[in-house]
Amino acid sequence: MLKIKSFTFNAFQENTYVVSLDNKCFIVDPGNSSDEENEELMLYISSNKLIPEYVLITHCHVDHVLGTNFLTTSFSIKAYLPESEKKIYDEMVNYAHLFGFENYNNSKDIKYITKDSKLVFNGLDIDIFLLPGHSPGHLAFYFDKDKKCFSGDVIFKNSIGRTDLPGGNYKTLINSIKNELFLLDDNVQIYPGHGPITNIYNEKHLNPFLI
Ligand SMILES: [Zn+2]
Repeated sequence: MLKIKSFTFNAFQENTYVVSLDNKCFIVDPGNSSDEENEELMLYISSNKLIPEYVLITHCHVDHVLGTNFLTTSFSIKAYLPESEKKIYDEMVNYAHLFGFENYNNSKDIKYITKDSKLVFNGLDIDIFLLPGHSPGHLAFYFDKDKKCFSGDVIFKNSIGRTDLPGGNYKTLINSIKNELFLLDDNVQIYPGHGPITNIYNEKHLNPFLI
C-alpha cells in the first residue's frame, strides 16, 4: 500500500506530498522554498531511506513548483509537467521573483506529459486526468488499487479551486469535477493542494459548489 506523507509549505500553505512504496518515492507539487523546508523534506526522504524517482506537477502555479528545481537537482531526477502549461511554467520565474521568491529558478530537468502519457510507479499504473478550470492544463494523478487521487487545486474539502487566475474558467472547472473526477468511486481519497484530505463521497454530498 502507498504511504503518503504530507507537508504544508510556503506562504501559500501548499500541500506537498511524498508518496512511497517500499524504498521508492515520488514527490507531488513540491512547494518547498526555504532552507528549512528543503531540510525538512530531505530529512524525511533520507531518514526513511527513500529513493525519489520523479516529481509530478499537477499544474504550474508558483506555489506548486517552488521546490522542483531543488529536487530535480538534488536527486538527478525529472519533473513531469502538464504539456499545455508550458507557457505558464516559462513565465513562472518572473512570477516567483515578483512574489518574493528571489532565488527561484525553473528546473531544466523536465518532461511534459498529457493525460495519455504512460506513468508507472514501482509497478503501479498511474491514471492521469485532465481537469481544466483552475488552470488550463491541470492534471490529477490517480492510483486505482489504492483509491487515492492527487488533484492539486481542482477541489478542496467543501470548496473548489479559484477560477479568477489567467486561463481559469468557472464553468470548465465544474464540468471537470462533475464529468471527470466524480466518475471515481465514492471511497476514493482526495489529496488536495491546500487543506485537509477528503473523499469523493463527501464532496458529492456536502460540497456547496457541487450539490
Ligand atoms: Zn493553483
